[in-house]
Amino acid sequence: MNYKEHITIVENWPKEGVQFKDITPLMANGEVFKAAVDDIATFAKEKEIDLIVGPEARGFIIGCPVAYKLEVGFIPVRKEGKLPREVVKVDYGLEYGENVLTVHKDAVKKGQRVLITDDLLATGGTIEATIKLVEQLGGIVVGCAFLIELGYLNGMSKLKEYDVLTLMKYE
Ligand code: IMP
Repeated sequence: MNYKEHITIVENWPKEGVQFKDITPLMANGEVFKAAVDDIATFAKEKEIDLIVGPEARGFIIGCPVAYKLEVGFIPVRKEGKLPREVVKVDYGLEYGENVLTVHKDAVKKGQRVLITDDLLATGGTIEATIKLVEQLGGIVVGCAFLIELGYLNGMSKLKEYDVLTLMKYE
């Protein structure tokens, strides 16, 4: 599947100098979206995962259909102030901004095997923060899956110890 055909590149959005990769055309195409979900599910299948964890908002879009397919649960990682019960939190830097991510304190149990999903790996700040949240709760990150890797932002350097799948890479 040529996934890149279904990504639209938007120059200078959300701010000057950023070349935004818009995944919504891929999501809008049922056949292509299904192929992407299936590829991630195949990657995860042998890992005996208990849960998928994904950061808001596009990590939900990728993670939820994979969770459904593998018949495992999905745990949302959200920005501060969005989750209603007790959370653990971590600060992180973004390609274009600063943020805090949180997850419910009881969302991952010690020893559970977790796949983390997001749409895109840029600097790796978001995935690193999400990994920290999972590991803080005693979860084992057995893999990370993305549609897109922006090679020029070198996020992969933060993921050396992890098994990572990316369906497309931009250099
Ligand atoms: P990182 O934390 O720098 O790796 O940035 C990754 C996060 O920013 C992901 O959650 C993405 O959804 C979002 N992001 C950064 N750049 C893009 C882009 O070009 N397209 C879509 N999402 C992006």
